[in-house]
Amino acid sequence: MKQLEERIREEGAILSDKVLKVDSFLNHQVDTELALATGKEFARVFAGERITKVLTIEASGIQFAMAAGIALGVPFVYAKKKKAITQSDKVYTAPVHSFTRGETYQVSVDQRFLGPEDRILIVDDFLATGAALVGLVDIVRESGAELVGVGAVIEKSFQEGRGLLEAKGVRIHSLARIVSMKPGEVHFASEEIY
Ligand code: 5GP
Repeated sequence: MKQLEERIREEGAILSDKVLKVDSFLNHQVDTELALATGKEFARVFAGERITKVLTIEASGIQFAMAAGIALGVPFVYAKKKKAITQSDKVYTAPVHSFTRGETYQVSVDQRFLGPEDRILIVDDFLATGAALVGLVDIVRESGAELVGVGAVIEKSFQEGRGLLEAKGVRIHSLARIVSMKPGEVHFASEEIY
């Protein structure tokens, strides 16, 4: 998605060869127009898949799942990272290891919101190590729902996430695929000539 790539070039801060900071428009302050445009693009790419719900994980996937849900005309559900006292015990759970925080936590989705009748599109802000998305894929499969695919706003293709998801037979579509980066320089898969 050209508009997104341009924004990453203009405003993204590359903190190391692995970490991209995009908090001025994507995951702290959010450009609402851009977020809605990502939702439209996911809806276009996965058109015809009869998606019934969009699934993401709190917190920074929420605005993109909502945008995709709006564009598809379906609800979105976000997996919770902490158990709330209001949450029922009937939940699907999966462990997710956070490499940025160095801890493993359980994510959960109430069983009332996911089931065999659903066709699910998973959406998240980043596909990096894939840990978060693999957790969501496992939850979808445990629920008996059909997984249509995974949509990532930004993919860091040089990390292992894509490979892990492909090994699980998951269709992936990323709106900006970064093949390499270092401070002051970012390269997208769309620039490559095959
Ligand atoms: P994973 O490593 O499980 O694919 O990514 C987990 C989460 O870490 C992502 O949803 C995203 O919120 C965060 N993350 C991973 N890589 C980056 C990055 O380069 N920049 C930012 N801002 N967040 C990231």
